[in-house]
Amino acid sequence: MTGIASKRSQKIILVGPPGAGKGTVAKGLVDRFGLCHLSTGDMLRAASAAGTAVGLLAKTFMDKGALVPDDVMVRLIEERVQQADCRAADGSPEFLLDGFPRTLPQADALQERGLAPDLVLFLDVPGDAIVRRLSGRRTCPACGNVHHVEFAPAKVDGICDRCGGALVHRSDDHEATIRKRLDAFELQTSPLVQRYGAMIERVEAAQRPDAVLAAVVAVMQRHGYAD
Ligand code: AMP
Repeated sequence: MTGIASKRSQKIILVGPPGAGKGTVAKGLVDRFGLCHLSTGDMLRAASAAGTAVGLLAKTFMDKGALVPDDVMVRLIEERVQQADCRAADGSPEFLLDGFPRTLPQADALQERGLAPDLVLFLDVPGDAIVRRLSGRRTCPACGNVHHVEFAPAKVDGICDRCGGALVHRSDDHEATIRKRLDAFELQTSPLVQRYGAMIERVEAAQRPDAVLAAVVAVMQRHGYAD
């Protein structure tokens, strides 16, 4: 985008291949700007851990590196965005969607509900860097912190530096599944780049997390966000 936005963007989506750092960027933006952050991956993992019907169904797809069917995802997100924490003071929708939409039909569903984004942050990372990033990733289910065996090792092996929780190697962060997730991104998600066209702000995400966040914050500032 060029020029200064007159009103801040309220419906923001974060798109990028698996391992682009969407969760890390989202967390940084929430800390800084207090957005209503909805991560469909986190919602599905929580549902799966809780043993709900949706969660157990979703897990069968997630473990294969496949996308969960659109109708399940649309129901999940449309209920959640109605809630009060995703409304601005004037009642209009305001959110940061992380991992949704991931297909053209999901983008259509947002559009039909008057929830089309007014800013799309695209985190761009080449595929070969992603396998290395994701296969070494260790996440903390308790606090959401992310370590990496090579790039950000925990001080005590297997224990989260931040909260002392037990780190896990996500079942979909193993190499064969990562490659399937990358295929799903190329086939099903990358057409969104075309769809959203001029609304997309592309950020080079094959750099250190703090540099990626700084670049995204600069974009947000151009779209009406201030500290
Ligand atoms: P993430 O944590 O965003 O990498 O998502 C993990 C997995 O959850 C994905 O590989 C999919 O199986 C599933 N998932 C998350 N969001 C969506 C979505 N919008 N549509 C379909 N599947 C999704």
